[in-house]
Amino acid sequence: MAPEIRSFMEEQVKNNALRELVEVSPAPGGRVIVGGKEYLNLSSNDYLGLSCHALMASEIIRSLSGSVVTSPSSRLLTGTTPAHTVLENRMAEWKAGEAALIFNSGYQANIGIISAIAGRKDVVFADRLVHASMVDGARLSGAKLIRFRHNDMEHLSSLLEKERSRYDKALILTESVFSMDGDMAPLAEVTTLKERFDCLLMVDEAHATGVFGRSGAGMMEAIGYAARADIIMGTFSKAIAGFGAYAVLSEAMRAYLVNSCRSFIYTTALPVYVVAANMAGLDLVQMEPWRRKTLLVNADILRRALTEEGCDTRGNSQIIPIITGGNDRTMRISAWLRRKGYWVAPVRPPTVPDGGSRIRVSLSAEHTSGMLERFARDMGEALKKNG
Ligand SMILES: *Cc1c(COP(=O)(O)O)cnc(C)c1O
Repeated sequence: MAPEIRSFMEEQVKNNALRELVEVSPAPGGRVIVGGKEYLNLSSNDYLGLSCHALMASEIIRSLSGSVVTSPSSRLLTGTTPAHTVLENRMAEWKAGEAALIFNSGYQANIGIISAIAGRKDVVFADRLVHASMVDGARLSGAKLIRFRHNDMEHLSSLLEKERSRYDKALILTESVFSMDGDMAPLAEVTTLKERFDCLLMVDEAHATGVFGRSGAGMMEAIGYAARADIIMGTFSKAIAGFGAYAVLSEAMRAYLVNSCRSFIYTTALPVYVVAANMAGLDLVQMEPWRRKTLLVNADILRRALTEEGCDTRGNSQIIPIITGGNDRTMRISAWLRRKGYWVAPVRPPTVPDGGSRIRVSLSAEHTSGMLERFARDMGEALKKNG
């Protein structure tokens, strides 16, 4: 192996930062089985517990009754089936947009859309904590990338004041519910700034879709601003428990992306059984609002219990980070929690800032209050025992 690659891997080991794949079997009831042992699953994006829903399986099977069951080509050739069109129309309607476009994953949507919209003469303003796929899209675009401090509108405003006029187009990127801090962007203020400084706005609702908003359509719906963003994207693979992603946008923007977005054009369309899973997930989000209510009640229960245990938590969503500080301590706490039967993710730099290592809990509507209270007590003990 090349010496650079070998030394990179040695550094990963030395920094206690080696990433490895672990084989797990997700189980119903917010659990996961690993190496024959059952754990409480606190690191799943299946927020509503839909991944094991009977309707999901039956709709996937029903979609396989046609004679062509896999995807024959890209969307622009013979990959756009009636099911794709129905799903796009349903997404546009639900998210209060003019049109929608399906992508094969959130990662592909973000890198493709951002690099199609922005170019060398443009500027991208991105919240410091936006998802890696948005950062990669901005880099790929060749535009000037300027990061603003997380959720800091004064900082964004001063950067816009100073930099906006030096570029042609400007694009503002934010998430609505942030994946690492579990907090929310001040979307009303972001929208005001976007309008004042003549920018395009793209909001990533990956963690808000299916969870927030009256009909579960996300934060932009919750605050009544859906029509004022240029692009609202999200993935089918989190609360909706399917696979792939969508962007809600104007008809004109949709047509532009169909002509210019390379991660949309040069890839095979999602197969019909995946579209059927996405549709079933969407149906369930709309038909069973109790799931998102239970999820957010669970989040309240756990946040309160963790605070009583003296934990430093962030945010106000179904994602609850517990700040643990340095890498080594976080790894010790994580191992301790594993032994106690919790499958929970340690998150370390570079995913989060130095010194901001954390245990990141993501909840499910399937967890019970008893499970969460027991976890909070064990988390409190983990912090004391691993000081
Ligand atoms: C998960 C996630 C993505 C990527 O979506 P995939 O469909 O899994 O590729 C993009 N943005 C955010 C904020 C995410 O959490």
